Amino acid sequence: MTYLEILRHLIACDTTTGHATPAAVEWIASYLKPLGGVATHRVRSADGARASLIICIGEGARPLLLSGHLDVVPAGAGWTMPPFALTETPDKVFGRGTTDMKGAIAVALSLIPDIVAHGKSACIVLTPDEEVAGTGVHEALDALDRLGILPRAAGCIVMEPTGLEVLLGQKESVIGVIEVHGKTAHSSDPAQGANALAGAMAAYGAFYGALKPFQDRSDAAFQVPHCVADITLFQSGIAANMIPDKAEMAYSGRFLDAAQKEAFMRALSEALMRLPLPAGVSVAHRETAGLRGFATDAGDAFARRILTHAPMAAYPKVSYGTEAGCFSARGIPTLILGPGRIAQAHQPDEFIEKGQLDDWRRLLWQIVLDFG
Ligand SMILES: [Zn+2]
Repeated sequence: MTYLEILRHLIACDTTTGHATPAAVEWIASYLKPLGGVATHRVRSADGARASLIICIGEGARPLLLSGHLDVVPAGAGWTMPPFALTETPDKVFGRGTTDMKGAIAVALSLIPDIVAHGKSACIVLTPDEEVAGTGVHEALDALDRLGILPRAAGCIVMEPTGLEVLLGQKESVIGVIEVHGKTAHSSDPAQGANALAGAMAAYGAFYGALKPFQDRSDAAFQVPHCVADITLFQSGIAANMIPDKAEMAYSGRFLDAAQKEAFMRALSEALMRLPLPAGVSVAHRETAGLRGFATDAGDAFARRILTHAPMAAYPKVSYGTEAGCFSARGIPTLILGPGRIAQAHQPDEFIEKGQLDDWRRLLWQIVLDFG
């Protein structure tokens, strides 16, 4: 099957935010069944809602891991063509997930018969929920460990869109909330209550005050060379004539590394504790989600070998999150390399250039020959 035929099936499977990934996994398993020389391992979450697929091709002593996520972000508004049916033009293909990242996956799957025929090996790891919870990757990594693959892996390529340039790191990201509690009262007698909004205004200032000293450190490998963090959501009050008893602010932060993130979280806690709050108002904050950052040294043996096949990006570290941090955290040399551009991801009329997919097929084949 050509990669475009495979991509047509993958796009038709609506894997928005993880749902229907079990169906996509079953389709891929049925495609692989007649090929032979391939062992597949399905990894299901306890509730059956998520499914990862591990595809082991050949019996290499030091398998190369190729990682991709099967889920896509919601289609959203603004499409001029069906998001869940592949639309082909002479030089592009359109559909939700063509760039992020079913195009790269389809090419990897299309290479399997060649890998088998040449007696080479590789291990493709497909995860179900990168765009949402990101829990499936941990289940898949645990399974890779049980299968004895993780300790032997030569390295991992996370096939996210990089325009076929090698990325060697990403920021450590965190999402958190600051909760402010007070006491509600009729607005005609505010002294009976404690206005949570007053606490929230103070916490807002404390957040940026805590961040400031961290922004002095920079790393030129990132296009945005320092850490960033912002308060991005705010909610409070239910009626104009009531003193609000609750205010909630969410924040998003991206840090140069885990140590910097941890230090900021401590500084924020301390700043909030020191706040001069009105009587009856309290403030707390907690982390609600995060993605591990990673940094692979350009001199690392695995990175050096991949860099003989593909160039390093002008800014080899990126500020967005991928599952690369999860692989790296398990001690596997990891980098990000795939077709398409990140700017095309998460957009209406998402597309990928066929030239990128053709080049990816040639590049990936060279890499598999080198490692297999
Ligand atoms: Zn992605």
